[in-house]
Amino acid sequence: MTTRPPASPGLLERPGLLERPGLLESLADGPVICAEGYLFELERRGYLQAGPFVPEVVLKHPEMVRQLHRDFVHAGSDVVEAFTYYGHREKLRVIGKEELLEPLNRDALAIAREVADESGALFAGNICNTNLWEAARPETQKAARAMFEEQVGWAVEAGVDFVIGETFSWLAEAMAALETIKAAGKPAVMTLAVAERVNLHDEIDPVEACQRLADAGADVVGLNCLRGPATMMPIVEKVRAKVSCHVAALPVPYRTTPDTPTFYSFKDPHCDDLPDGRAFPSALDPFACHRYEMGAFARKAYDLGVRYLGVCCGAGPHHIRSVAEALGRQPPASRYSPEMAKHAYLGTDPVIPESYKRYGRLRHPPARS
Ligand SMILES: [Zn+2]
Repeated sequence: MTTRPPASPGLLERPGLLERPGLLESLADGPVICAEGYLFELERRGYLQAGPFVPEVVLKHPEMVRQLHRDFVHAGSDVVEAFTYYGHREKLRVIGKEELLEPLNRDALAIAREVADESGALFAGNICNTNLWEAARPETQKAARAMFEEQVGWAVEAGVDFVIGETFSWLAEAMAALETIKAAGKPAVMTLAVAERVNLHDEIDPVEACQRLADAGADVVGLNCLRGPATMMPIVEKVRAKVSCHVAALPVPYRTTPDTPTFYSFKDPHCDDLPDGRAFPSALDPFACHRYEMGAFARKAYDLGVRYLGVCCGAGPHHIRSVAEALGRQPPASRYSPEMAKHAYLGTDPVIPESYKRYGRLRHPPARS
């Protein structure tokens, strides 16, 4: 393992940190928006490989990661989350590059912190599913705990405001992650990924699992990833009714249904050439939610009392802007939100020539309902 000095100074040296509200103060004040899904967005942009899904882009193209953080903050994200998702020891072992572990984590944290500092956003560390945990194999649990400890340690050194533990399919693994975060003295946002079969791997209902995480000291509990708005909402609603702490909801922006409850489930009837016969992960485009659907989800969740809102794999800045606007915000990107009154054919503004408005009515009539 390489040893490098911390990429950034510690907590007390972070400019402005002590004056700025932290996660809990921000949640007390109103909703907190967290953009996620960096893996998918950077895969689409051509800087990250689907399959392994390891964020080597942090080291190879740090400018792309920095820009993506900026794009999401511009669109309304209140949180800059260090891109350490799947930057853990097990994933780096899978691609044979364990030596990159520490530099990747430290650099991801430094990049996120830079954008958080320049924008005033909250700065979050991240740990996640290890893909190693087995209930019957204590050695896997020991290894997972060691992975959490090293990543949380680097996050604390970088001065994070809080740590996100996400995409867990084992309650026991999420509990171990939570213990590590709390032992480090940081607020914890803990989110579970609920697969087609609703119970977690340890045969616990996710609503009950959220309750246990809350009882164990999680500051925010909820769901992220796998499920789109339609199939995440019913579970989130139950979580909100069950726990007394804050609740998180970060669906994927895809049109999941009771028959296809997660984005792993989609098959595309219009295409026979999908590599594995399934749309996940690189042919999900026909199933994408548009921005208004994501805004509607956020508003509905907010009305239920959910205060930590975001979008996971598949999220683009347009989704985040719509979430922000649905919550009554006007982030900088709202300067460029649609204004169809000035459209050449569909516009109604007096500056649009009447003849073109007429062409618009004749040639582009509204779709029949
Ligand atoms: Zn995700």
